[in-house]
Amino acid sequence: MSPTPTLADWQAKAAVLSANLETRAFIDDEFVAAESGKTFATINPATGAILANVASCDAADADKAVTMARAAFTRGSWARLAPTERKLVMLRLAGLMERHRDTLALLDTLDMGKPISSAQSDVSGAIGCIRHQAESIDKLYGEVAPTGDDTLALVLREPLGVVAAIVPWNFPLMMTAWKIGPALAAGNSVILKPSEKSPLSALYLASLAREAGLPSGVFQVLPGFGHTVGKALALSMEVNCLAFTGSTGVGKQLLQYAGQSNLKRVYLECGGKSPNIVFADCKDLDSVARHAAEAIFYNQGEVCIAGSRLLVENSVREAFIDRLLAAAESMQPGDPLDPASFMGAIVDRTQYERVLDYIRQGVEEGARLRMGGKAQAGPGLFIGPTVFDDVTDDMVIGREEIFGPVLSVFGFDTEEQAIAMANDSDYGLAAGFWSQDIDRIMRVTRRLQSGQVFVNNWAGGDQTVPFGGVKQSGNGRDKSHHSLEEYSELKSVWMSLSS
Ligand code: NAD
Repeated sequence: MSPTPTLADWQAKAAVLSANLETRAFIDDEFVAAESGKTFATINPATGAILANVASCDAADADKAVTMARAAFTRGSWARLAPTERKLVMLRLAGLMERHRDTLALLDTLDMGKPISSAQSDVSGAIGCIRHQAESIDKLYGEVAPTGDDTLALVLREPLGVVAAIVPWNFPLMMTAWKIGPALAAGNSVILKPSEKSPLSALYLASLAREAGLPSGVFQVLPGFGHTVGKALALSMEVNCLAFTGSTGVGKQLLQYAGQSNLKRVYLECGGKSPNIVFADCKDLDSVARHAAEAIFYNQGEVCIAGSRLLVENSVREAFIDRLLAAAESMQPGDPLDPASFMGAIVDRTQYERVLDYIRQGVEEGARLRMGGKAQAGPGLFIGPTVFDDVTDDMVIGREEIFGPVLSVFGFDTEEQAIAMANDSDYGLAAGFWSQDIDRIMRVTRRLQSGQVFVNNWAGGDQTVPFGGVKQSGNGRDKSHHSLEEYSELKSVWMSLSS
């Protein structure tokens, strides 16, 4: 491909790749069919074409993988390997991902419809995460407790055992990296269950993990459905931790499964309905409007931290909405393989119908449709940027996570009112606001009920800061050394010394 691949380059690569897809599960270092022999179709939502029929794992495959994962953990070929050695293997994996970055990006684009440019930044994020966690392994110290001279008390960190990572489809590779990076770095055996809507990059990653030298049974991939293989992993007595990213509804089910089985740790990264607040004292209405449009329409709105509730101070509301609509107009969906496309296709027909249904409800509830609201004709699943104004907090579109390109705009008059409206949600994943007043910045930051707060930006962050929510957005933290700590146990050692 040319240094900056064109649409034609990506199309040519997609044709070759589509004929050579890995579709089998990866268990104990081998690619194998599901025990049942069953498969499911994964579809390119931009064209409606079946990409591949993928192994549909169920409880029998989960049992096999868990047994292998436990055996690998007990052998200690990874768990007891010196941290510096684990680091080298993971850095090799990151290097292989780098070498195969176009293929990894293309697989996510074909599988779930995201624009290739955003899939490429996902791959960079995934590689960055694996590297960061690898580099952290040999910098995480235990403790010596402050005891008297007759004792030596240590606090050691040990891996948990078997971690099942259950991930969604909106950032298939990046969400995978956020889970497996710290879980592997800490020395666990990891079983990955990708979403049934986007299994392909995970299977490709398995081949890279094998090439990097991860020992047999330490990293396995089970494609399949949530209610079959996902549930079996969640109920397993031999899985020590569920690392989950997905909807709040499924997150609640996983907590129940843990209670019904072995009280495994459950780390949840769930949904959101994030408020983005525009104060009249923000620096530049044009620039903020562009950011506000990107905050909701990036990745077709299929983003857990989408800025889906836009709260605008009434004194600048009309002027702001004019600018917002102009920015959104330039973000119409296009061929996901075209590097110029900002938005791609909606992941599948179920999600597409769900989004259109929310748009219908918005109209019926009396919100003012200012833009979009329509699907594009054709076999592909495309919905244009949709903006509702005059939304109130009793409307379904103002409260529920739509997970599509639909923005709800609310007006407010005072800072106090904006904070109350922002916090009036079951969710608490992200919140952001735009202001030049430093006193207001500190006041509002402290009062927003949210796992992350973006001030004069949206979705800022890198590997050094944790990512996660409060309230019904979950209890876990991805990224940074905090995630590495989550995948290890503390062991207290009390040694009596003779004087
Ligand atoms: P989902 O909850 O439907 O599915 C997520 C994963 O759980 C999939 O792999 C699915 O197969 C599996 N699953 C479903 N039912 C299961 C069960 N009974 N037992 C075990 N596993 C089961 O979510 P989705 O539609 O894939 O993703 C969209 C959701 O993910 C949105 O709510 C979004 O906000 C959330 N999300 C959150 C974050 C975050 O970091 N907080 C990031 C991305 C996406």
